[in-house]
Amino acid sequence: MPECIVCRGYYKADRSCKGAQQLREEAERLLKKVEGHCREVKLRREEEIRIYRKARRYYELMRQHCRKFKHFSKQAEQRCGETGLYCKIVSSVRRMLSDIARQRCQRAKQRYEVAKQRYQEAKHRYREATWRCTQAKQRYKETKRRCDEAMQRCKEGGHKCERCGADNSIWEELRMSEPVEQEGWRGIIAFTKPHCCLPFVITVLSTLLGLLAFFTLWANIKPYFRVLALLMTASGCLLSLQGVYTARLKIRQKELLRRVKRGWRRGISTQVLALLLPAGAVGTVLILTYALIRIGDLWELVKWLALISAPDMGDGLPKKVVAVLPFVSLIGCVVLAICFTASSSLLLTLRYIKRLNELLPHPLFLQGERLAQVVRREAEVELGRLDPRSTDVENTNASWMGYIQLREQASPRPLRLPPTVDMSIAAEIPSSPQVELWIHAATWVWDELKRTDDGGIEMKVARHEIYQLPKPTDHSSHRPHPRVCYVVRADPWGHIVRIQRDDKQTK
Ligand SMILES: [Zn+2]
Repeated sequence: MPECIVCRGYYKADRSCKGAQQLREEAERLLKKVEGHCREVKLRREEEIRIYRKARRYYELMRQHCRKFKHFSKQAEQRCGETGLYCKIVSSVRRMLSDIARQRCQRAKQRYEVAKQRYQEAKHRYREATWRCTQAKQRYKETKRRCDEAMQRCKEGGHKCERCGADNSIWEELRMSEPVEQEGWRGIIAFTKPHCCLPFVITVLSTLLGLLAFFTLWANIKPYFRVLALLMTASGCLLSLQGVYTARLKIRQKELLRRVKRGWRRGISTQVLALLLPAGAVGTVLILTYALIRIGDLWELVKWLALISAPDMGDGLPKKVVAVLPFVSLIGCVVLAICFTASSSLLLTLRYIKRLNELLPHPLFLQGERLAQVVRREAEVELGRLDPRSTDVENTNASWMGYIQLREQASPRPLRLPPTVDMSIAAEIPSSPQVELWIHAATWVWDELKRTDDGGIEMKVARHEIYQLPKPTDHSSHRPHPRVCYVVRADPWGHIVRIQRDDKQTK
C-alpha cells in the first residue's frame, strides 16, 4: 500500500482508475478494428458495383448487337426468297454472324448475372457491416461513459487516506506521470537533467582525472592503492547521487519539519549542508596535508602503507609539500569528487522539492487543524481502551460515546452491545429481574493545545463520565460523576507518544 503524502499513514490506492483506462483503450482499439473492417467492406462493395455496371453495359450492348444481326439475317432471307445463289450466301453469312452474336450475348448475360449476384451479396455484407459498426459505436460510447465515470469517481475519492482524510490523488497522479518518480535509470536521469546532469559530469571528470594521474602524479603510490582510489571515486560519486535521489522525499519532509521545529532541533538546512560539504572536503584535505607535514609518525605510516619508494622529506616547507603531494592529491580526488557530487545532488533535490511543494498538500504537521483532529481521534480510541469497562467498545467519531451494558447476574463476564449515541434505546430493552441495565457515556472536552519544540503537538483533554440509569437501583444510583484530565502528546505525524493523567486537575 502506498504511503500517504500528508500523514505517512498507508492509504488504499484505488487502482480501478487504471483498469478503467485500460478498458477504454481496449474498447477504442476494438472500435477502430470494426471501423476498418467496415471501410474494407464498403470498398469491396464499390468494386463489385463497378464490375456489375460494366457487365450490365456489355450485356446490353451485346443484346442490341444480337437483335440487329437477327433482324438483318431475317431481312436478307425475306428479300432473297427461294432463288438467288449470291443472296443465299449472303444470308447464310449473316445467319452465322447472328449466331455468333447470340452466343456472345448469352455469355455476356451469364457474366452479368454472376456479377449481379456478387453485387447483391456485397450489398448485403455491407449492410451487415454497417449495422455491426453502428452497434460497436454505441457499445464504445457506453463503455467510454462508464470508464469516464469510474475514473472521475476514483479521482474524487479513490485515494483518500483514512487516517487523516487527505486526498492523495494528486500524489498518485504525480507518481504515475512524473519522470523523476519512475523506476530505474530514467528516474535518476530525469532527476539530474535540470542541472545538465552535473553529478554524472563530476563523476566522469574526476574518474578521467584519476586515470590521468594514475600513470603520472601517483606513479610512486602502490598500484592497489591507486586502483582502490579510482574505484572509490567512480562508485562513491554514483552512490552519493543514488543516496540523495532515494532520500528525496525524506529530505522534503525534513525541510518542511524545520518550519515547525524550534531551537537546536531544527538542525541545519539542506541548502547550508550543500554548501558546507565541498568546503568541508577542502578543509579535510588541507588538514591532512598539515598533519602529514607536522606529524612524522603519520608520514612514516603512509610511507609504509602506500608508497613504493620513500622520498625524503627535505628541509624547506615547499619540499615537504612536494613530497606529500601525490598521496594528498589521491585522497583529495576521492573526497572532493564524492562531496561535490553529493552537494550537487542535494541542490537538485532542493529544486525538485520546491516543485513538489507547489503541487502536493502540506504534511500533517503543517496543517494544524488536521493534526489536532487526527490526534484527537486517536487519543479518544486510546483513552477508550484505557477504561477497563469499555475495552471492546468501538470508538465512533462522535464525541459522545455511550454504550449499553447488559450484565447478567449469573455470568461473571458482562455482555456488551455496540455503542450508540441514542439513549432512548435503553428504555426499549425489556428489563428482567436477572438483567441489570445501565448506560455509561463519556464526553471529551479538549481545551489547551500547544505545539512542542520537536514539531509535535500537546493537548489537554478532560473526560466527563455520565451515568444515566433508566431504572435507579439502590447500589448504583449514587455513582460519582468523575472528571479525569489527560495530557496527550503526539509527534509531528500525529502518532501518540504519551498519554499522561493530569492529577492536579482530576476530580
Ligand atoms: Zn493520511
